Amino acid sequence: MGEAGRRSNGGGAAHPDFDVLIVGAGFGGMYMLLKLRELGLSARVLETGSGVGGTWYWNRYPGARCDVESMEYCYQFSDELQQEWNWSERYSPQPEILDYANHVADRYDLRRDIQFDTRVASAVFHEDRGVWVLETEGGEQLSATYCVMATGCLSSANVPDFKGLETFRGPWYHTGNWPHEEVDFSGQRVAVIGTGSSAIQSIPVIAEQAEHLYVFQRTPNYAVPARNTPLAPEVRDRIKENYAELRALEKTTRNGTQYPINDVSALDVSAQERERRFQAMWDNGGLCYMTSFNDLLLSREANDTAAEFIRSRIRETVDDPEKAELLSPKSVVGCKRLCVDTDYYKTYNRSNVTLVDVSQSPVEKITADGLIAKGDAYQVDTIVFATGFDAMTGSLNRIDIRGRGGRTLKDKWGEGPRTYLGIAVAGFPNLFTITGPGSPSVLTNMLPSIEQHVEFISDMIDYAGEHDRRTVEATAEAEDEWVGHVNLLAGKTLYPSCNSWYLGVNIPGKPRVFMPYLGYQAYQEKCREVAANGYEGFQVG
Ligand code: NAP
Repeated sequence: MGEAGRRSNGGGAAHPDFDVLIVGAGFGGMYMLLKLRELGLSARVLETGSGVGGTWYWNRYPGARCDVESMEYCYQFSDELQQEWNWSERYSPQPEILDYANHVADRYDLRRDIQFDTRVASAVFHEDRGVWVLETEGGEQLSATYCVMATGCLSSANVPDFKGLETFRGPWYHTGNWPHEEVDFSGQRVAVIGTGSSAIQSIPVIAEQAEHLYVFQRTPNYAVPARNTPLAPEVRDRIKENYAELRALEKTTRNGTQYPINDVSALDVSAQERERRFQAMWDNGGLCYMTSFNDLLLSREANDTAAEFIRSRIRETVDDPEKAELLSPKSVVGCKRLCVDTDYYKTYNRSNVTLVDVSQSPVEKITADGLIAKGDAYQVDTIVFATGFDAMTGSLNRIDIRGRGGRTLKDKWGEGPRTYLGIAVAGFPNLFTITGPGSPSVLTNMLPSIEQHVEFISDMIDYAGEHDRRTVEATAEAEDEWVGHVNLLAGKTLYPSCNSWYLGVNIPGKPRVFMPYLGYQAYQEKCREVAANGYEGFQVG
């Protein structure tokens, strides 16, 4: 048991209420709680929702499913847990992932330390006492030695400021904040605004129900087929028998999934071989398309070959050549996260689906009974905003977080997020972020990345306790160096070439900074080194 644990008894004026307060009961917060319990520390999780699951609790839109394969998108810290759970499809639908999250919460009796329906309004570090005091929107104050933000990378839904939205008479929804009751679109005229991953998954399902669907597209996106299928029990059992090998393989790949990159340039093979490789990945389905060659995100010329392959498939699928052209992106493929679809492009062959191109002139306004775009009025009963998130920093910045000297995190991150390893921030002692900006997070299979962060943070807290230290803080030098390194790596790739949420460009006024860290394996190695060297770059004081 760490020293912090031995000191904890909750409540007293001299002592904080808990060793650790965790914000968020998604996969990060749940595993963090479990690890801290193993250390004998007292912890409480504060969660806005009424249940566990984080992103899978909120994103209930029709067609929502994971774009990483089920057998990989799950915890690996317990072999019993891996063996006892049975995924039913290659890519799990949202309700099944939520069932899994609930199963984990039940299995480890997590709920007794989770306070639901509680939104954290502020988190303030009291330097005199060396404690974090969190205040909820309901006015409750809780204190702890450490505070872990498990607030998720894509949790702050973005509804753009459309003129007239308040006048709209019908219901409107954001995909990332979907109602818990089923939404029935039968017989309705529906508008979907946006054509990112969430739209690409929901459009084919909504189109089957709605009387008419209008899709408002500002920028087309690349989508590759998921090729989702039921998971045959014998396939699942075979994977389970070899789970250790699969997990070991994942640790060696670029994004933490089972697909290693083909270490050949797209430009060093014949056109026929290139086509063969793209076709094989296309037939396999899913995000592995980007592993076809090793330079797809390094060379524009190489990238063009991958992009053109997808454009050809769009032209083959969409009957109307004008629509096919509108749906064909011209940007770098993979620069925005690749979308994984089921029948997305085919949906535009339906007579009840209209594609409205708003690339040149935006949706002008929303009226009582619809939308106006390019001077035309579209009468609709329901609007679906598939307009994305204030990614990576949004859910942190909406909490009033104050570190040393009362400085706010928002102020510190005014020019873009600054962290050490995506885990800690200089000037904010004992505050840790799970999969924060500056870590590989969203560019990887999130579950192993979450597990790695949770284990790093719990080991570091334990280390501080064992050494009788009360504060752990990233040094300004380590942070500066890390921020420079993150930017340097991103600058060598094609990622900065488009207006993606990785760069924060989708949110007006947000600084254009590439937020995730490129290099899953190098990152893990770096974290191992940091820990082995007594948490190098952190002041453990
Ligand atoms: P997104 O990728 O950011 O897409 C938002 C869409 O809304 C874009 O097409 C954007 O157009 C459009 N948009 C935003 N503001 C607009 C405006 N004022 N007028 C017209 N269009 C507007 O958001 P998302 O689809 O929710 O996906 C976000 C991320 O969540 C994904 O990249 C992925 O990482 C994750 N996700 C994963 C899954 C999965 O696992 N399968 C599913 C859903 C989401 P522009 O491109 O022009 O900005």
